[in-house]
Amino acid sequence: MPRTAAPLLTSPVPRASDSDRRRTSASVVLRSVLEHGPVARSTIARLTGLSPASVTDYCSRFAELGLIRESAELRRSKGVGRPHLPVDLDDSRFVVGGVHVAVPYTTVALLDLRGQVVARSEVKHAGTEPARVLGRAADALAALLAGSPRSRALGVGFATGGWVDRDSGTVVEHPLLGWREVQVRQVLGARTGLPVHVDGHARALVNAERLFGRARGSRSVLHLFAGNVVDSAFATHDEVHHGPRSQAGSIAHLPVPGGTEPCACGRVGCLQVELSERTLCRLAREAGVVDGVNPMHVVSAAAAGDPVAGRLLRERSRRVGRAVGLLQDVLNPERVVVTEVGAMHRADCLAALREEVGADRAATVSPISFTDSVLAVAGGSVALDVLYRDPLAASPEAI
Ligand SMILES: [Zn+2]
Repeated sequence: MPRTAAPLLTSPVPRASDSDRRRTSASVVLRSVLEHGPVARSTIARLTGLSPASVTDYCSRFAELGLIRESAELRRSKGVGRPHLPVDLDDSRFVVGGVHVAVPYTTVALLDLRGQVVARSEVKHAGTEPARVLGRAADALAALLAGSPRSRALGVGFATGGWVDRDSGTVVEHPLLGWREVQVRQVLGARTGLPVHVDGHARALVNAERLFGRARGSRSVLHLFAGNVVDSAFATHDEVHHGPRSQAGSIAHLPVPGGTEPCACGRVGCLQVELSERTLCRLAREAGVVDGVNPMHVVSAAAAGDPVAGRLLRERSRRVGRAVGLLQDVLNPERVVVTEVGAMHRADCLAALREEVGADRAATVSPISFTDSVLAVAGGSVALDVLYRDPLAASPEAI
């Protein structure tokens, strides 16, 4: 009996448009060069499932733009179709700017295409009025760029805590800074003359982990950021979940059983106030361990043998572990990344945190990959994520 196609198979199905497919292909080729470079184009074709001709075409375009370079031998021979010769990222020409606004200060940085911090500075707030903070950040960024005259900036990434809407480029609400509906993309764009991309710092750091960190290749990643602001982000299949108006990940006011700290929202024992660095530093001040508001001073005191400092840090990491356990129950991620000062700097704190999540899940939890540069990486990785998602639209030709 002759086989005929079933009608269902011939009916139209939703398809990605050609431009979507091109964007995806360009993205996977550049990501392959990032992850495996120096790498032969024939290997990229094998890894990505794209045709060798298509890989060669994308590589030629990236090379013309200055995003990748071919081997010196290939350049001399002026050939473009020799697939066995390796290509690699060209990290010498372009940078992205990064701006991260924390409660006490702004971190400004330049990152190369590998996500490495090539220059950075910190700007203490002189008041948190948005135009002033952003103006000072733009000035600091201009100073860093002036000090790197051979690097051209492809764009600027901005990250902060609280509720940040990527699509409108707005900080919708950051109560600790007193910011509400701040049009960051517009303000920084006008000040820098560069494309500006804006996102929440928990999501920004998930993207940094996906692209440059130890979580690369994981099918699902949860990130818990516990600084003065406490928030989270979750990515599956290479996509960070934003939800309507980018509100996903707001966990500041989740109730912590047994919590005792009064929160500005009027309740007691909210996650953010229980876990914040402010609370850690206040407890450390009350115990006579430190006299300021810098959590790294508590870490230094513990390293110098102060048993109270060590205990305070372990206790906080334990609480962070409890919060991680709750989020794991909801989301069941393959990997968990934690930005928390104790777990990042002390093995006993990481052990305490892992103990709370349970032996079966402990190995999935790691501190963030960028221990000494986490805030410098956060801002820039917003812009680098945009570049790697759509290299031909975000590349130098387009700005
Ligand atoms: Zn609260």
